Amino acid sequence: MSTLEIKDLHVSIDTDQGTKEILKGVTLTIKTGETHAIMGPNGSGKSTLASTIAGHPRYNVTSGEILLDGENVLEMSVDARARAGLFLAMQYPVEVPGVTMTNFLRTAKTAIDGTAPSLRHWTKDVKAAMADLKIDADFANRNVNEGFSGGEKKRVEILQLELFKPKFAILDETDSGLDVDALKVVSEGVNRAQAEHQMGTLLITHYTRILRYIKPDFVHVFVDGAIAEQGGPELADRLEEEGYDRFLAVKA
Ligand code: ADP
Ligand code: MG
Ligand code: MG
Repeated sequence: MSTLEIKDLHVSIDTDQGTKEILKGVTLTIKTGETHAIMGPNGSGKSTLASTIAGHPRYNVTSGEILLDGENVLEMSVDARARAGLFLAMQYPVEVPGVTMTNFLRTAKTAIDGTAPSLRHWTKDVKAAMADLKIDADFANRNVNEGFSGGEKKRVEILQLELFKPKFAILDETDSGLDVDALKVVSEGVNRAQAEHQMGTLLITHYTRILRYIKPDFVHVFVDGAIAEQGGPELADRLEEEGYDRFLAVKA
């Protein structure tokens, strides 16, 4: 079992108006096999948490820690984080001209594992994972993200989960812009990764809709850069009914 610990994390960004503190002391522990939903209103700092775990240079950690099995994640390069078993969905958002999906995925897998997967197994694994996710077989030969629809990009994120087998996946708004069919396929992929290799998931979402398909073990409500409330799946049900007004009213 592995553990990802976020301890009293404070994160700032530099803006034209000066330094702005966005995360104001976030503490959270995830173990492999667990699903944690981070929910909250827009602007509450959810994506900032994801970007900070990903090592985005814009976000300055002013205090606190992120530890993966006791190792200091904040000292790791972005590549080292991937090798250590963290999957950060926003890591490859750009189009990469002239690089096919198959080659890109194999290169990434090689970088993560430290050895290249045998070509024969790899081709088979990619085909099987693509079929599971109802991704068209032609896709393997298309260039990375070139002309991909929003839904296709999300499926490719989940394809990477199945192929890279990370210990922890941080999925930021993976549900946004998906129709119900795509949402089901994507959710099944996350559930499979959890069942098959005990992946731990940090599922960041504004809406409760995806939580009908991916059952969280824990729900954390973000308000103004901190966790305002924590609970089990019943908290998501309550948010579905009540929205975030209760939290915002307290803040005002
Ligand atoms: P969420 O994902 O919950 O909607 P974000 O983490 O994106 O929230 O944003 C939290 C706050 O930080 C917001 O007020 C947002 O405007 C600000 N913020 C985040 N990233 C940046 C950035 N790169 N530049 C300026 N402001 C930012
Ligand atoms: Mg603090
Ligand atoms: Mg966000």
